[in-house]
Amino acid sequence: MGDSDQEWLEISRRGLMLVLSSPSGAGKTSISREVLERDEKISLSISATTRPRRPGEVDGKDYIFVDKTEFDLMVNRHELLEHAKVFDHYYGTPRAPVEATLGNGHDVLFDIDWQGTQQLAEEARGDLVSIFILPPSTAELDRRLHSRAQDSEAVITERMARAADEMTHWSEYDYVVVNVDFEDSVRQVEAILNAERLKRPRLIGLSDFVTRLRQGQ
Ligand code: 5GP
Repeated sequence: MGDSDQEWLEISRRGLMLVLSSPSGAGKTSISREVLERDEKISLSISATTRPRRPGEVDGKDYIFVDKTEFDLMVNRHELLEHAKVFDHYYGTPRAPVEATLGNGHDVLFDIDWQGTQQLAEEARGDLVSIFILPPSTAELDRRLHSRAQDSEAVITERMARAADEMTHWSEYDYVVVNVDFEDSVRQVEAILNAERLKRPRLIGLSDFVTRLRQGQ
């Protein structure tokens, strides 16, 4: 294949918004970390939150930690693409970095809940690809929640109840991945991402490409 053919294969495209949601303990965080690690064309949207920082979390990397006053200011200035109260705290997606990344033809991964996903669907359905991650069984979810050493039995019982609640939203998503095996689940998410990248409406450079083809260039 000649150099000029190679050039033509770079058909410009609009980036997509890949949302991963799941009840806590289904493995969403590990899957998204792995996808981000392996694929340089997708980056993580860093949410703002009023939740206190957990040990090991870094401000600006895991979350942008803000107080409620600051969060409300962001909402009032329309700086958030979506926002929701999840459990006891507020979370929201800063708009500007997402729009810049999409405009550059890169993709953005969101680790947000079903409320945020619904709002993104209202704002930008065409850019959105949503995946819901389910645990393989209740017993496995229970085991995974127990393996997070820090949490007390009361917290785990509460998380199990919330998980049952959150799972009712599976049917609002484009895809569902049942996380039986970590490696398989990562591959499934990558397959979805790669197929969605090829969708015709996202390939905004396609029409020019075909024009050139027809002109024999
Ligand atoms: P955690 O406090 O455990 O980091 O996150 C709790 C929940 O909030 C998770 O289900 C996560 O997906 C969700 N979440 C994190 N950031 C956002 C956000 O910006 N918007 C929405 N709607 N949910 C978020």
